[in-house]
Amino acid sequence: MAAKSSIEWTESTWNPVTGCTKISPGCANCYAERMAMRLLAMGQPNYANGFRVTVHPHMLAKPLEWHQRQVIFVNSMSDLFHSGVPEAFIRDVFRVMSEADWHLFQVLTKRSQRLAVMASSLPWPDHVWAGVSVESQDYVWRVDHLREVPAAVRFVSLEPLIGPIGELNLIGIHWVIVGGESGPGARPMRRDWVVEIRDRCVAAGVPFFFKQWGGVRKKDAGRMLGGRTWDEMPGVAEPPPGGRPRRGRAPSGRDARSSRPQVRVNARPGP
Ligand code: SF4
Repeated sequence: MAAKSSIEWTESTWNPVTGCTKISPGCANCYAERMAMRLLAMGQPNYANGFRVTVHPHMLAKPLEWHQRQVIFVNSMSDLFHSGVPEAFIRDVFRVMSEADWHLFQVLTKRSQRLAVMASSLPWPDHVWAGVSVESQDYVWRVDHLREVPAAVRFVSLEPLIGPIGELNLIGIHWVIVGGESGPGARPMRRDWVVEIRDRCVAAGVPFFFKQWGGVRKKDAGRMLGGRTWDEMPGVAEPPPGGRPRRGRAPSGRDARSSRPQVRVNARPGP
């Protein structure tokens, strides 16, 4: 069974790596760290090292065992491009993703430099999406690194948004997610920061996903913006009726590249 996720823009998580280190202000209240320490206390074997970067070779083949198609957030409890993850292991992760072509994988990182350096030597089939996290204007340069990645879908997660983004070049970007910080110590997100990003996406025709306002009690704050929810995503092909499709075909039997409808899918872990 895949690990179901409560994250609004994905369905499942897969953590062949756990643990991370803080790299920028967006990491200050890292949910993955809190969760890792909880799982350590619960005696979960994959978290025996707490939040120290740890690779788990026994987790590599998991997506190949999940026959039902999933939208999978890769390494919600770590950052795949952390310097502590051996290059050979990153390549193993990409080999599995390439083979498990009935799923859709979302790889999200704050280590955009390493992503950009390795990108041209990694396989990027259409069902493997690449994304970077940006928390404020100071880190918008990560989007420039992302533009160098030859993925079919490049996405930007502006979460936790802790400052204005200002100029955001959306050329070559296929999806933008925005979310406020939630949980203990959550830093506020201003409405005008969100509206500015939303308006840029609308003007550029880039799907916009508004995840949440956040706050200490995020359910109370909700996820409405301008009287509606924003759940846009790049095209995702329909899952096959019987789960795993024949190899070499898009999950719906259609070419996923030729049909990119706006679809709706129904914690802040990961980068
Ligand atoms: S998992 Fe993400 S938020 Fe947490 S420390 Fe690593 S990069 Fe930062």
